[in-house]
Amino acid sequence: MPGEACLTGETGAGLVFNGMKIDTHAHTSQFSPCSLLPAPDLIIQTYEAGLDGLVITEHNCQWKGSQLDEIKSALRLPEKFLLAAGQEIDSDAGHILVYGCDCDFGVNRHWKDILKIVEESGGAAVLAHPFRWKCNVPGDGYDEFLRSFSAIEVRSANLPYAAQAEGIDTARRLKIPAAGGSDAHAHDMAATYFTFFPDDVRNINDLTAAIKAGRIRPGRLRHGGNNVKKRGHL
Ligand SMILES: [Zn+2]
Ligand SMILES: [Zn+2]
Repeated sequence: MPGEACLTGETGAGLVFNGMKIDTHAHTSQFSPCSLLPAPDLIIQTYEAGLDGLVITEHNCQWKGSQLDEIKSALRLPEKFLLAAGQEIDSDAGHILVYGCDCDFGVNRHWKDILKIVEESGGAAVLAHPFRWKCNVPGDGYDEFLRSFSAIEVRSANLPYAAQAEGIDTARRLKIPAAGGSDAHAHDMAATYFTFFPDDVRNINDLTAAIKAGRIRPGRLRHGGNNVKKRGHL
């Protein structure tokens, strides 16, 4: 039920939930060795928690759309539930989430090189979990660095609350769109945070366009993680 979700950012008490709540950052054990979550487990938990979609963002590689279509079909998920793929790329300035570009970025690239590839391919780049560690920040001009991204991820199960607060304050101060994602690597992290899209998102192109347009808000699901109240699927 939408009212159980706690949105942050610029949203007011009168918000009408006609859009979609999508976890835009999560990993599976198939392609991210650091994850304990088989893809079907992650997908079902996300759906049963009440989210409207999931973008799987493996480290430095990307699921094929046909692979995800097969899983979605096997799990008998409704058509409207979005299941799509992005990537989380290693860079010299931290992890960068990319959407809408099926490119091989390699690893440990310079962050500017990654943003250039994303821009040239029409994708969107979101800085993952900033303020997690005070390292890998490219010197002075951190505000300008943050402004280089379509959005910054301020809500994440991989961010301490203090870092989330710093990210939210910074996004507001700099007027940078802010996103949320579980960064799930295990069941207790899945479906905990999400990005709210006020418009319908039918595919990764819609999602990419919405991020680039800044039509997003970060959100938290109070009953995510190990507290999922199943909505009766399967
Ligand atoms: Zn990361
Ligand atoms: Zn991640």
